[in-house]
Amino acid sequence: MAEKEILFLEPVLKENVWGGRRLVEEFGYQAEGSAVGECWGISAHPHGDCVVSRGRFKGQHLSALYREHRELFGNLKSPQFPLLVKIIDAKEKLSIQVHPDDAYAAEHENGSLGKTECWYIMDCPENASLVIGHHAKNREELADLIHSDRYEDLIRHVPVKKGDFIQINPGTVHAITGGFLILETQQSSDITYRVYDYGRLVDGKPRPIHVEQSIQVIRVPDDCEQAVTHAQNLPDNQMNLLEACEYYKVWKLNVSGECILPWEYPFLLLSVLSGEGTIDGHSVSKGTHLILPAEYGIIKLQGRMELILSTAVK
Ligand code: ZN
Repeated sequence: MAEKEILFLEPVLKENVWGGRRLVEEFGYQAEGSAVGECWGISAHPHGDCVVSRGRFKGQHLSALYREHRELFGNLKSPQFPLLVKIIDAKEKLSIQVHPDDAYAAEHENGSLGKTECWYIMDCPENASLVIGHHAKNREELADLIHSDRYEDLIRHVPVKKGDFIQINPGTVHAITGGFLILETQQSSDITYRVYDYGRLVDGKPRPIHVEQSIQVIRVPDDCEQAVTHAQNLPDNQMNLLEACEYYKVWKLNVSGECILPWEYPFLLLSVLSGEGTIDGHSVSKGTHLILPAEYGIIKLQGRMELILSTAVK
């Protein structure tokens, strides 16, 4: 049953000015720089295309596997591998940003996908908050606040804690603040419009701000009241659905002892957030990213670990 082989992936590490050292020091990923912001754990995006690390597909890029062995992914229709899973270590706050939807990105960004994303908060400081949404009542007020640099009046700070889960639809103003470790599941897109960068200089100059694109794509008024789900204290050894949107489903799974799950997915992306154990006899631990291909069958997990799993809807 070689076609049911687990696809273990070699992550791609990214240096970012706002990144820290936790991905190297706590997760054991290999990277040189002093500011490593992102680990692209499951990605076929041209800016970071993961390679299979063992087995009969060893050495192949996920993009090539998706192109040439679509049966592993349930013969999904999407022309490009649709999802991207990353761990973000934000030592410093990120710029305030917004992403376009598919229609806007296709028209203005060379046919790229838009970006819907969601975050599971793996760690954050006490009494922390994220930027999610804004206070403008209409597009004129939005443009006015942006053009007059009144960003603190514009943005909405939402208190969050470790174990919260946040869905970020296209058009939602958002920013990760300092001290957060997040697992992000997103559409495979790298299109970001920077709304505001706190006046920071990078290499002596401010990074570009996408004022006009931001004003066009920000959802007004916003609808972020339901964005945060509390995912602490979920039952062990079962798939706990956190989100089902038009692009993906995302689950949290806490394994304690032995856990046997029926197979009811086109394929599954799996990331180990903490702990260690086995999946059908294969050792996995904090920081492992893998794909269970189509028709994989019953999954047997053992050990003590927290996982985030996802699958594509189209
Ligand atoms: Zn984003």
